[in-house]
Amino acid sequence: MADAGFPTHVGDGRDLLARVGAVVKSPGVPPRAPVVAEARARGLPVLGELELGWRLIDRPFVAVTGTNGKTTVTEWIAHVLRLAGREVAAAGNVGTPLTSLVERPPALVVCECSSYQLADTSAFAPDVAVLLNLGSDHLDWHETLDHYAQSKLLAFARQTADQVAIAPARVAVPGAARRVDLVADRRATLPGAHNAMNAGAVAEVCAALGVDEATVEDGLRSFGGVPHRLELLRELGGVRWVNDSKATNVASTLTALDATPPPVHLILGGDDAKNENFAALAGRAARAYLIGAAAPRLAEQVGGERCGDLETAVARAAAAAPPGATVLLSPACASFDQFTDYEERGRRFTALVEALA
Ligand code: ADP
Repeated sequence: MADAGFPTHVGDGRDLLARVGAVVKSPGVPPRAPVVAEARARGLPVLGELELGWRLIDRPFVAVTGTNGKTTVTEWIAHVLRLAGREVAAAGNVGTPLTSLVERPPALVVCECSSYQLADTSAFAPDVAVLLNLGSDHLDWHETLDHYAQSKLLAFARQTADQVAIAPARVAVPGAARRVDLVADRRATLPGAHNAMNAGAVAEVCAALGVDEATVEDGLRSFGGVPHRLELLRELGGVRWVNDSKATNVASTLTALDATPPPVHLILGGDDAKNENFAALAGRAARAYLIGAAAPRLAEQVGGERCGDLETAVARAAAAAPPGATVLLSPACASFDQFTDYEERGRRFTALVEALA
């Protein structure tokens, strides 16, 4: 193993517990992992990276959670705050680990918080917490919807009366923070009703942080979006090519279809490990191009032509899509059967689209 500058050990780790004062757990390690269970049984504190970063960064802290829209809303809030002249860092799943900010913390942190990370908190109490929505992704890890929902609600559970809790009106949240309902959608330049909801959440968070309405309005209109989420790549011969590689479940693909004017030529498929039911996608696209391990089940439940890989799907869509159509990569599946992750899939799609003549 490469020299990390400190001793490293490979193995299940239980033999080390007699010598440690606390365990810092990577979010992907499930709570039932032997070393975690044993540490808890011994009464050792088990901290997640979010908990550790939050404890070490003594700055105003905004936590963004929910099933969908976290990255978009996190980056969007940071965009508005920058327009308002605040020194802000966006952290969490967005590419900057929270603990990387510890040495030189910004004036304010906006952090995307996954349910995995929230499940490993013990004192975490952000100044502003926002829950965008609550769906049913990640049930493989959390095992029950209830545990998943409970994890997300940990963003609120330890908040105090001087803090702010923002959530959809129908969701009751624990904790003592001042409650703000998410009700008003806001007009924005990003497409789709879901982005109007996201804009509403951005506006509430920024208002809670004291940003004036004119700057909020400006920031809702000037945000350019995040790559791989309904990202318009190109218009070629009257055909719009849109990269929504981040859509790794059926709900996200339905959201993309709702935001895209027909006719849509839809590229679907990828890893099938989640075994989701795809039937809701049937009849939603003018034509579907199926790739990856999920293609046989997609063919049964949605219909469409089997293309094998992304290259073939792009070539066939380029030949078939008429002017006025949108070719949308919104796969409803994870990417791990053919790509490292959704970003690699999206970059590959972008390169293929750029190469079209
Ligand atoms: P996350 O970080 O929570 O995964 P992203 O901002 O990366 O969320 O968006 C992922 C996908 O979720 C998008 O491609 C879009 O299809 C869908 N999405 C985004 N915002 C919402 C929303 N408010 N409600 C439902 N779906 C959404």
